Order: sequence, then C-alpha cells, then structure tokens
Amino acid sequence: MLRRTVTVTAAVLAAVLGVPTGSQAAPAPGSPGAGDVYYPEYGNGGYDVAHYDIRLRYYPDTDRLTGTTTILASATQDLSRFNLDFALATKSVRVNNRAAGFARQSDHELVVTPARAIAKGAPLTIVVEYDDIPSNVVAAGLTSWNRTPDGALAVNEPEIAWWWYPSNDHPTDKASFDVSVLVPDGVEVISNGAPTRWAAPVFDGWSRWSWRQDKPQATYLTFLAIGDFDTYQDTSADGSPIVTAYNTRLDAVTAAAAKSSVERSDEITDWLAGHFGPYPFGARGGVVTGAGDQGFALETQTRPVYDGRSFIRGSNNSLVVHELAHQWFGDSVSVGQWKDIWLNEGFASYAQWLWSEDQGEGTAAEIADYVYSTVYPADSEFWQVLPGDPGPTRLFDGAVYDRGALTLHHLRELVGDEDFFAILKAWTEAKKHSAGTTPEFQALAERISGVDLDAFLQEWLYTPAVPTSV
Ligand SMILES: [Zn+2]
Repeated sequence: MLRRTVTVTAAVLAAVLGVPTGSQAAPAPGSPGAGDVYYPEYGNGGYDVAHYDIRLRYYPDTDRLTGTTTILASATQDLSRFNLDFALATKSVRVNNRAAGFARQSDHELVVTPARAIAKGAPLTIVVEYDDIPSNVVAAGLTSWNRTPDGALAVNEPEIAWWWYPSNDHPTDKASFDVSVLVPDGVEVISNGAPTRWAAPVFDGWSRWSWRQDKPQATYLTFLAIGDFDTYQDTSADGSPIVTAYNTRLDAVTAAAAKSSVERSDEITDWLAGHFGPYPFGARGGVVTGAGDQGFALETQTRPVYDGRSFIRGSNNSLVVHELAHQWFGDSVSVGQWKDIWLNEGFASYAQWLWSEDQGEGTAAEIADYVYSTVYPADSEFWQVLPGDPGPTRLFDGAVYDRGALTLHHLRELVGDEDFFAILKAWTEAKKHSAGTTPEFQALAERISGVDLDAFLQEWLYTPAVPTSV
C-alpha cells in the first residue's frame, strides 16, 4: 500500500474454555482472534478456511448489498462455537446444513453456535446470508466500504472484508475465492484472478460478473471495484489473463497517463520476477479508480488498485513497480503478524529503487544516500519510529517504507549482491502462498549469507535513533 494512517480500537475478548468433565475435553469455543499482537480480535481460532464462495447482488443507486457467502473450512479443535469477522446485518447462518445460532459480539465479530458441536478435523460448510447498506456501517471506528459516484470500492488494509463478506480475517489463513456479483447492465465489476463470467445477462437489465482466484489469497487482498470502467483484456506470454480497467470519470489525459504505466504491468511483472523469483499467481493487471476515489494504491492480489490521482502529473511506473512487487512481498509471502509490515512495505519500496537504477534514473545507492542524509535529517522524528515494530497506529508510517528499504539496501551492502538476491529468491520460495515473520527472515538471511545479523537488524529495525552502521 501507499500510504495512509489507520485508527484502531483495542478491545480484547477472552475465550471461555470448556471445563473437562472426564478424560476427554468438552468441545470449546474457538478463539475470537488469530493471535495478532497488534490486532487481537482480527482473525479467529478453531478453524481453517480453504475456500470462499461470495455471491452478491449490488444496487449502485442505493448502495444495497445482498447475498450469500459460503465458507468451506475444517475444524482445528473440537468446537462448540466459533467467530466470523463480519460487520453487515446478517439474516441467517447455517453450519453443515443446519440452522446455527448467531449473535453480534462486537461491531466486527459474529459468534456462530452450530446446532451440533464440530469434531476436530471435521469439514465445515458455513453459509451466511446478509443484506445491508455497507456505506452506513461503522466498525472499529471506520467505514472501509467506499461508495463512489458510479459504484463502490472494497479496497483497504487491513480492514475491508468485514463490509462485504464474513471471513477469518487474518493473512495467516489464506483461501481460494470465487467472487460473483449481479449488477445493473452497463456497470462493471472487477475483482481478483481470472474472469469466469463477463457481463453475463441474467434477466432484463441485470448481468453477472464472476472472478476466480485459484491461488491462496489473504482476506484483505480480496477486492471489488464496481462502477463505470473501460476494460481491456489480454493474455500474458505465460498464458495467464491480463485485465486492466480505468474509471470513465478520469479525464482523457489522466487516463492516458495511467495507461502509460498500468498497461506496462505485464512487462514490469516479468522484470520483477527476474529479481524476486517466479511470479506466484496466474493472472495479472490493474485497476485505476476515479481521481481521489480512495486516496491510495493497494496491492490487491493479481490486480492492484490505483487512485487516478496518482497519475495527474503523468505516468507513475514507480508506483506500479511498488504494488506489483507486493505480489511477492505481502501477497504471496504475507505478514505472519501485522507488526512485520516492513516485510511488505520495505521490500516494495526497495523494488522502486531497483527500478530507478534499471531505468538510469538514479542508482539504489544514490537514492539510499539521499534518503538517509537529506530527506530525513538526524533530528527528524522519522528515526524514532521502529520499522520492525511501528505500533498499530503507525503501521503505514514513512519509516516502515523508507527505513525498511534502507535496511534492505544496507543488508545488500553487508552480504553482497549475490547473497542478497539469493536471500530474496529463497524467501519468496520458502514462504510462497504462506506467511512469514521478521525472525524467520533473519534466520534465512543468516543461513544463506553466513553473517550474524542480530546487531545489524537490532540497529536498523528496532532502535529509535539514526543507524550509524552504513
Ligand atoms: Zn506498499
């Protein structure tokens, strides 16, 4: 992502454990959180999701969203009940074909009590039916669903899924997705992966759009862009579909500037693969919203979403490089804890420096020197923020990006180019379609380089002062 601040509420809910009555423990409630230190309520315990089938109808005139999400999961413990992360008005919940009890525990936690306890390892088919106006729904102090003049955007980080589908909302539980939305004729629906229905007429005046993500995908990287878009379809040299889309409210010159960058996504993806290892997904592209519609760009999986305003001064290939670099760092290799966010943003930012060097616009070393010495003077508050532990209110602080990128640049100088790029490729391979933490990255980098990185990373990631080992 580039770049915003978030507000967070910190209500921690305690799981009440069942009391063993004999040699066997009674089925117990799943934890209301996935164990994230920054966001204790995000995600849930007790089950693991394999697939989401999200089937919706959207009324742009009123922002009404109705439909059903079917979740295929398996129980990871004997379960008496479990939580879903969801904020919309829920009409019914069924678990394994039986009506289940459901109750709102907070503005983004839904507690589901199945008719029968679920044995560890057993499959779960969870069907949630809902009907709401997402732009009216506030959860954790914000409304991430973004109604636009011609539709809506479900694009944000980390909080977005709550406003359009129930989920286990943490990057450590990835799943495949089918997303299908019925909209009035003439409205486009863009999402992740490959299109499986493209404006397919269903009845008079309404058409269905369906998208499939067959690779594991984190909940926050799943997106919807609904509205009036000019769309383009092509096929990459590897056979994967390329879909790009540009909001029709963009003025002609801004749309042309956006296309000058986003239409190069296929080329830039291949260029990044040369540095980071094989592209981990089977679809490509990008979406450009109206200018100012969302105010940031996000690395939504296979198809980043850019704000049109990012192109008002002309092409912005560096931004496309940033969001596409996230396909490796953030999307395929996700954060194991949100505090590891520099593993996303530091790497995506460093990719921009590598691109600059490739384009003859300033080497990574020249940019690193400038950022270190000139952009952020020694007395700047920038140096007080720890990239390796910025805190939930500074998740997207400039230090996470720029000091994160500086950390990588000086790691490169410390271990040499050969080992540095070997580390990046080994990391994306070892954690492909999974999640990783900073200690795991350190262990891998030390194994490849043979260099003890304790003192180096302590200074660069965890010390509120200007690092001097440069
Ligand atoms: Zn980013």
